[in-house]
Amino acid sequence: MNNKINIFKNRSKLTKSTYQKTKKILHRYGYKITPYYEDDAALNLVLGGDGAFINAVHQSKFSQIPFVGINTGHLGFYQEIEPDNIEDFVRDFSNGNYHMEILSVLETKFKNKTFDSINELVIKSNKSQMIRLKVFIDGIFIESFAGDGLIISTPHGSTAYSLSAGGAILHQSLNGFELTPISPVYSNLNNTLRAPIVLPQDATIEISVSKRDFDHTVLIFDGRQEISGDFRIKTTLSKKKINKVILDKNQYWSNIKDKLM
Ligand code: NAP
Repeated sequence: MNNKINIFKNRSKLTKSTYQKTKKILHRYGYKITPYYEDDAALNLVLGGDGAFINAVHQSKFSQIPFVGINTGHLGFYQEIEPDNIEDFVRDFSNGNYHMEILSVLETKFKNKTFDSINELVIKSNKSQMIRLKVFIDGIFIESFAGDGLIISTPHGSTAYSLSAGGAILHQSLNGFELTPISPVYSNLNNTLRAPIVLPQDATIEISVSKRDFDHTVLIFDGRQEISGDFRIKTTLSKKKINKVILDKNQYWSNIKDKLM
């Protein structure tokens, strides 16, 4: 097996000390660490929280090499390993004693460009103003939305911004995605669906922004890339997937209980 491991890390104090510890253990087990992304490595190892995990996925351009995270952040929903369990992980990984989880990716087309995200795409105003959007699902006009904005989220992203906006938690094994309104306006002037909608894997969401809101509406992918303009976007689940190493198939429910409640 290839013994190369790509390391991604944030700049926290805990990450620094955990990195030193991780490096020693990996060397002891015969692994070579690469501080820059190399496309023939066996693993993308991320030290930090969910933010670091999302950064690593974007930096590596949605790499197909499996990811795994050591949690030195706050929540660490994506991060499988706690700093106390690094040696156990390296031993299990070396012995092939692990499972692979498949993470969905959202693909958004806008003006002949494609943007990928693993948590979500958010459409909102960058001036705290109300925005008006027309929403189509599978080509059928569904609603004239008015409010703070809309979130389109993957199952893994459903525990992030979408949950804060009143969305449902989608189990990670579900093959679909979710459309969640952010503070929809209660008025009979708009036909706004105020409930989140869970969509099947082959659904397409198209959204167009009302002309009067062109100049202050933005698209935000995983809290990072922000673009604006007079747009009509099309979002689907991508054929691209992210592979994540997991050791315990039941960790999902412990995460929900321990990290979200
Ligand atoms: P951040 O603003 O520094 O932190 C956002 C928080 O969300 C962090 O505590 C992060 O966990 C957590 N988080 C990220 N992905 C998660 C997931 N899939 N499930 C549960 N929690 C998750 O930004 P960031 O760390 O770069 O993360 C970007 C994400 O922030 C966006 O994708 C969006 O979902 C989220 N966000 C949430 C709100 C809100 O809830 N009102 C508003 C804006 C953005 P760690 O502490 O482990 O990093």
